[in-house]
Amino acid sequence: MDLEQLWRLTLGEMELQISKTNFFTWLKNSHLVDKKDGVFYVALPNNFAKEWVENKYQKTLLGIVRNHDYSVKKLEFLVAGQFEVEVPQKISVADLNKIENRMELGFRVDPDTNLNPKYSMSSFVVGAANELAFSAATAIIQDVGKKYNPFFVYGGVGLGKTHLVQMIGNEVKNKYGGKIRPRYVSSEKFTSDIVWAIRNKRMEDMKKKYRDVDLLIIDDIQFIGGKEKTEEEFFHTFNALYENNKQIIISSDRPPQSIPTLEERLRSRFEGGLIADVGFPEYEMRVAIVKNKLQDANRHLKPEVVDLVAKQVKKNIRELVGVVNKILFYQDVKQIEITEKIAEDIIEKSVKNLSKRISDDQVLRSVADFFNISVSDLIIKGRKKEVVEPRQIAMFLLRDILDLSYPYIGEKLGRDHTTAIHAVEKINQEINKNSSLNQKINLIKEVLYKN
Ligand code: ADP
Ligand code: MG
Repeated sequence: MDLEQLWRLTLGEMELQISKTNFFTWLKNSHLVDKKDGVFYVALPNNFAKEWVENKYQKTLLGIVRNHDYSVKKLEFLVAGQFEVEVPQKISVADLNKIENRMELGFRVDPDTNLNPKYSMSSFVVGAANELAFSAATAIIQDVGKKYNPFFVYGGVGLGKTHLVQMIGNEVKNKYGGKIRPRYVSSEKFTSDIVWAIRNKRMEDMKKKYRDVDLLIIDDIQFIGGKEKTEEEFFHTFNALYENNKQIIISSDRPPQSIPTLEERLRSRFEGGLIADVGFPEYEMRVAIVKNKLQDANRHLKPEVVDLVAKQVKKNIRELVGVVNKILFYQDVKQIEITEKIAEDIIEKSVKNLSKRISDDQVLRSVADFFNISVSDLIIKGRKKEVVEPRQIAMFLLRDILDLSYPYIGEKLGRDHTTAIHAVEKINQEINKNSSLNQKINLIKEVLYKN
């Protein structure tokens, strides 16, 4: 067998083992170019691919090649000269986007449960923003179907809903070794399955698929709302599971009462269980997430860089994780220590910088709008009780989102800096204990971040 044939066979087998996207991204343009003393040389089009294939697929590839040619001892990867893409001196936005989800490519979804093992408990960081949801999750893992059923978790984009609900599924799967069978589905997939089943007269299969489980997780339920047939089927699925004490977990970007198209009977079912939210992570939690990510990847960054990232990337966890991945990738490619300057540059390019887009006046306006008062009510002297909380929240947000100094915040609201310090500290303490306050702040942030 010549080298080309051998490689074609190898790739054919490899294609079956990894996702299409991964295959096309990393292996499509590879060639077996030489062999010598048991070392087989594989050429890849660029450094990105070389690094990736070396780390992720080396072992599998070697195994496959060995099945066809015993003389192979080792694979060596090189960058094919004619294709070589120089790593740019300055990082461009396009480069960053290319590698956005690099860290995520290695995992494979379990076909039985549709769960992705990357959403593990050890990689999930708990903080004030998700404490309640997390403790509900651990209780459910202990006692599937008995406590908190259904469990409804909601929160804004990228705040960890999918991670949380999949984590429950993964833990259950591992803990009970097949005795309790979880299944995960996004509501889009659920909907398309139903459409397919109706069209092909396969409703029974469809019913079996979703009712013959012990734990059903439906992600992003807001997309089901308003689709009559889907809602109907979901309702029946829900009831069938519920009546058999099967656990149901639902996520959504908003609480049940705010999904206008959701049928009343469904909504009241959800409200009969436990509802918990995941909110925006505060600074300490963001630091913990960055550190967790580094530990997971067995990597290191200077404390100053960790701090900088946690300070500047606050919109959501997805963005935070994305920035860490990009920094690590940059470090790999350039083989240099990441300085604060470089980190700033990467953050600048990958994050739509909030503090540049949101002005202090916008913060005040959003707070005033939320409480149905005017901006001048926030600033005006006097101690009208109704405006005390809004004013404190405004000060808190100016600090939290925009990182403004206390004297500046004080002045902005016609107070001195000690009042500002006091307000920010007060909200900081309260926010963990008072879920309605927490919710108000989350809602105001959502409005600000959306614009
Ligand atoms: P959502 O479903 O709310 O849009 P995801 O669950 O997809 O958000 O989370 C976005 C990213 O952030 C994922 O990579 C996820 O692993 C990560 N992430 C979310 N919450 C946490 C957390 N508490 N600890 C660590 N990583 C998290
Ligand atoms: Mg999600």
